[in-house]
Amino acid sequence: KKPVIAIDGYSSTGKSSISKIIAEKLGIVHLDTGALYRGITWFALQNCVDDKDEINLEELFKSFHLIELEFKKEEDELVLFLNKINVSKEIRTAEVSDNVSLIAKQKEVRDFLLEAQRSIARNGGVIMDGRDIGTVVLPDADFKFFLTASIEERTKRRYNELLSMGFEADENQVRENLIERDRIDSEREISPLRQAEDAIVIDNTNLTKSQTIESILQHLKK
Ligand code: C5P
Repeated sequence: KKPVIAIDGYSSTGKSSISKIIAEKLGIVHLDTGALYRGITWFALQNCVDDKDEINLEELFKSFHLIELEFKKEEDELVLFLNKINVSKEIRTAEVSDNVSLIAKQKEVRDFLLEAQRSIARNGGVIMDGRDIGTVVLPDADFKFFLTASIEERTKRRYNELLSMGFEADENQVRENLIERDRIDSEREISPLRQAEDAIVIDNTNLTKSQTIESILQHLKK
């Protein structure tokens, strides 16, 4: 049976891009759970805001049945479709990044996404990245990793990623967003960002992406 692998960690530690490459190498599925929370946030910003442009949570909770999230393979990339619309770029905007942690701390939202995430892992052969995969979503995963890196290194990475996607970005704003999201994600009551007790911790501040991948692959062989 192919392994179930959980990858958690702080924002912009490379979880998703690393998981994607490992999935290709092992011939397993990669699920970027952050994209699901971002997708819901984008939906809320489109459909559930009040006169002050703030998200109305009650309205969002009542709208879950109108949300269909789907990953589709396009040119070797899994891209997120929300109600048949490709939102893979929209979910990376600063507006979504600024609101996603407030959406992700809602119990209703986490409950809505929990079973969908678990069902993907039911038959094995998956690498799932997020904040609570090793602790809550897949506590029985075969392997658990927790990635960290310095805030300066993570800021640089996210900043360059945004530029490469064609967004304008401000380094200070990127740094503030990472710090704020990590804070809200760590302090929330349900499923906070935590290292599972049995997770292997990798600080990749001074590692390249391929070195981090190599380190994970070494552990998977054991
Ligand atoms: O992984 P990414 O940075 O795209 O995640 C965006 C946000 O989604 C996180 O800051 C967090 O608030 C939320 N998230 C979560 N649980 C997960 C994955 C993401 O709460 N498993």
